[in-house]
Amino acid sequence: MKIKSTLHGLTPYQPGKPMEEVKRELGLDEVVKLASNENPYGASDSVQAAIQEAVSSIAIYPDGGAAKLRQKVAELHNIDEQQIIFGNGSDEVILILCRALLSAGDSIVTATPTFPQYKHNAVIEGANVIEVPLVNGTHDLDAMYDAIDETTKIVFVCNPNNPSGTYVNEEAFMSFLKRVPKDVLVVSDEAYEEYVTAEDYPDTIPLIKNYDNLMVLRTFSKAYGIASLRVGYGVANASFIQGIEPGREPFNTNSIAQAAALAALDDQDFIADCKVKNKEELELFEAFCEDNGFPYYPSQTNFLLFSVNKPGGEVFDYLLRKGFIVRNGEALGFPSYVRVTLGTKEQNERIRSLLTDWLL
Ligand SMILES: *Cc1c(COP(=O)(O)O)cnc(C)c1O
Repeated sequence: MKIKSTLHGLTPYQPGKPMEEVKRELGLDEVVKLASNENPYGASDSVQAAIQEAVSSIAIYPDGGAAKLRQKVAELHNIDEQQIIFGNGSDEVILILCRALLSAGDSIVTATPTFPQYKHNAVIEGANVIEVPLVNGTHDLDAMYDAIDETTKIVFVCNPNNPSGTYVNEEAFMSFLKRVPKDVLVVSDEAYEEYVTAEDYPDTIPLIKNYDNLMVLRTFSKAYGIASLRVGYGVANASFIQGIEPGREPFNTNSIAQAAALAALDDQDFIADCKVKNKEELELFEAFCEDNGFPYYPSQTNFLLFSVNKPGGEVFDYLLRKGFIVRNGEALGFPSYVRVTLGTKEQNERIRSLLTDWLL
């Protein structure tokens, strides 16, 4: 068999180490995974009941159009139902976009380091990837604008950025969006939007009515707490959505996931509570870094990228032996850093005291 040459040299996505594997290898009873930015408080209680109910009809294909969820998301954002495309995670919306817009010879512009799926999917479609270095951990939108040429089809703005946690403010985003040629799609990937507290974070969805070339991505995997069920969505103008829809599999979001997402959206108190707790934990962690002179990137997310001035791999190994799976910055483009998903208060305190015992 001959596999498309665009797949040569690509490696499958490297997820955080699985918990069961770590327990077995290290003989640990309890392992905490703070590696993939899931919600440490899980999901709203109402989600469990919604899943139980949906389980009774698993023999039936899901509603491919996700009508109920579509209506709820449209209400939430005050948009038309036709402006939404659902994916098996927002990862799949990225895949659909690349599939629909990119051919050999086309290009995309991204930041680096950033979320790896933009590049990965673009490479599979045979497109070139122009990577523009972050400046102080933040997207350099002027340089990204300069990198646009006649081959550019998509510019991905990960806001806030994974893995640095930093954000692009409204002024920077607007001045960029106004200049980008109208035939280049600007994707604002807002996987952590629910956690953002910065007042000058851009409110992008209302901009879509004036910008046909803007798509906003959201997910149920982070604050909404249902990462394993795989639901995310993109919002853009209706005729663009209609154009890319044939690139979506007919039943890409399953009925359990749709029901869970619907219930999760209904409980905005849960999201608000998680946001408050996350902010408190973030401030404690950032203060810990300040107090100890550990460099870090100010975060608008539920994770923190920081350095204890040792290779990320050493910190990763140390915390792993203590039962915490974090992300080694070496694999994320920040060799002397680790990226830690904020856990519960107890988990975060434990990590800080483990680091203190080890280093100080
Ligand atoms: C986690 C994450 C996603 C993927 O989310 P899914 O909806 O689970 O596919 C997309 N973008 C960024 C920046 C992320 O961190």
